[in-house]
This record gives sequence, C-alpha cells and structure tokens, in this order.
Amino acid sequence: METRTEISSLGEFGLIQRINKGIRPALPDTVRGIGDDAAVIDLGEELGLLTSDMFLEGIHFDLTFFPLKHLGYKIIAAGVSDIAAMNGIPRQVTVNLALSNRFSVEAVDELYEGMKVACKDFNVDLVGGDTTSSRSGLIISVSAFGKVKKDKIAYRNTAQPNDLLCVTGDLGGAYMGLQLLEREKQVFLANPNMQPELEGKDYVIQRQLRPEARMDVVYELDEAGVIPTSMIDLSDGLASDLLHICAQSGVGAVIFEERLPIDEQTYLAASELNIGAATAALNGGEDYELLFTVSQSAYEQIKNNPKITFIGYITDKKGEVELHTKGDTRVPLTAQGWNA
Ligand code: ADP
Ligand code: MG
Repeated sequence: METRTEISSLGEFGLIQRINKGIRPALPDTVRGIGDDAAVIDLGEELGLLTSDMFLEGIHFDLTFFPLKHLGYKIIAAGVSDIAAMNGIPRQVTVNLALSNRFSVEAVDELYEGMKVACKDFNVDLVGGDTTSSRSGLIISVSAFGKVKKDKIAYRNTAQPNDLLCVTGDLGGAYMGLQLLEREKQVFLANPNMQPELEGKDYVIQRQLRPEARMDVVYELDEAGVIPTSMIDLSDGLASDLLHICAQSGVGAVIFEERLPIDEQTYLAASELNIGAATAALNGGEDYELLFTVSQSAYEQIKNNPKITFIGYITDKKGEVELHTKGDTRVPLTAQGWNA
C-alpha cells in the first residue's frame, strides 16, 4: 500500500526542508538556493537576488476589510522586504493574478493603483506577470529581483556569538491591527448598523493594511558603513524568525522582554483584546521589519539611529534562544512563543 503522510505532520518549514533535500542547484552562478529570504545569483560584478511570495484570499487577506489598493501596496512591500533582508536593492517585480468573476475591471484597477504607489515608493519597476481565472477568489503572487554588492550581502546563516541583535521599527502592530479588524468584522456581521470602533487605532490598522519594507534602514546602514552579519525580515514573527537565524547560523540568542519595541497603540489594543503585548511582539507576523545582527564594533555607528533597537545578543549555545523576561527569569523561546 502506498504511504500517505499528512503535510501537517511536517509543518511548513518541515515541508520546505524536505523539498530542499531533493534539490541540488547545478549551475555555477547559483550561489544560494532554498533557505534564505531570496535566492542569490552571481551576476559577475554583483549578486542578483530573487524572491517570490503568494497571497490567497481567505488565507492571507480578507477583502471584507482589506481595501484592494492597500493589498496591491502590501504585496509589493512584501517582495521588496525579502530583498531588503539580504541587504539588497530591489529593481524589478513581476505579479501573477488569478481572479474569479466576482472581480470587476475597476477592482483590478484599484489593486494596480496600490502596486504603482509601492513601485514608486520603493523605486522598482513592475515588468510582467501572468493573469488567469480562479474558482476561489483572488490569488496574487509577486516575484522580486534585486541586486547587492558581493561584500555587502547579508545571509541568515552568518550570525556570530557576541553579535548584537537589532530590530527595526516596532513589533506586534500588524497582528494587533488584524485582531481589531476581525473583531469589527464580527460586530458588523452581527449588526450591520454598527459603526466600526477604530478611532485612535489608525497606526496598528495601518501596520496591518499598508506595511512598509524597511529599505530606508538598508540605506542608512550603508551610509553608516555597517554591514549586518546576518539578517531576516519579520514576516512570521520575531520568535520564529530569530529561531531561523540561530538554527541556520548554529548559534543561540538571548533577548530581553523589556527591550522589545512596542508602540503605544499596540499596547492599548493588546490590553483591550486581552492579549499580552509581548506575545504579540514575539509571535505576531507581518510587521515586515528587519531583524539583524551586527558585530559589537558596529555599535557606535548605529546606536543613535532611532529606527534601530538593540534587543539582545548572540550566544554560542547552538539553537538555544532565550527570553529574559521582565520578571528576571529566562525562558526558552519557541516558534509559538515561549514555554514558561
Ligand atoms: P520568506 O518568509 O522570507 O518569504 P519562506 O519562509 O516563505 O521565506 O521560505 C523559506 C525558504 O524556502 C525560501 O528560501 C524560499 O525560497 C524557500 N521555499 C519556500 N517554498 C518553496 C517551494 N515550494 N519550493 C522551493 N523553495 C521554497
Ligand atoms: Mg523573508
């Protein structure tokens, strides 16, 4: 009898590992294949970067509260963010669309309006894609191409013990924004006359609906003469993405709960919804901030950058990632949070 293994028994990362095992890049210019934020291609003088992301209606976005224009912006930002995570400069994007007959020409226009704004903001060209019909709503995928000088690339697997752990912006906002939008949707479904209560919550809503890729920080690090020793963008959440850096670099890390950058609105939304703000910061996805490490000698060059927070350091304890809590205890971090 043929064996059948449930995908859930491997999980997303286990499945990718399994796919990876069966694939050996053979071309001499394939510098790095599966495993980082983008694949790396030798272009001679420079390295090329190539990344791809998919967004499915009902899985990644809910059009009852997600404006199409914002969705267009977000998918481009997501592609650019993976190029930023390699310390690269994005250049071109292609976009694939699958549409059901629920969507009008005007809806597609709106989607592309958002993409155009993002392309302008991040200085990339939309150069192609594919369009097809769908039986289940809207599916979009984006591929982004970027470049980086050979001595400036930042991989996930090159963090060193004693490096400082840095994060850009603030964390948990996109997750709290989503929780608020979902709550308002339920309220609206129960009573369509209810007005949404989103006043004073604009920042977290925006974090969910219109995230930014942190190209600004990539440029500022370059101006400061700092090359991260490793980097990843925060699409899955700090805990999960830090575990990727540590596992792939063969190192451990300690992060401090009191150092986690959390916006006031994230705190307020978390307390309103009875979620720990630190839990949102550690496990909330889609912030699209950068998590990176630098050698201690780089501290002086970036310590005054208000967009960068030092949240901890790298240790030589392979795979051991610990959270130093506000209560002065140390608990191991897992991809789901921490096991107290
Ligand atoms: P990110 O969150 O940065 O987009 P992912 O977690 O989606 O990265 O993917 C991790 C790595 O696995 C990347 O290098 C990606 O290219 C690769 N990957 C993901 N899915 C597949 C797939 N179906 N086939 C081959 N490689 C994949
Ligand atoms: Mg990424």
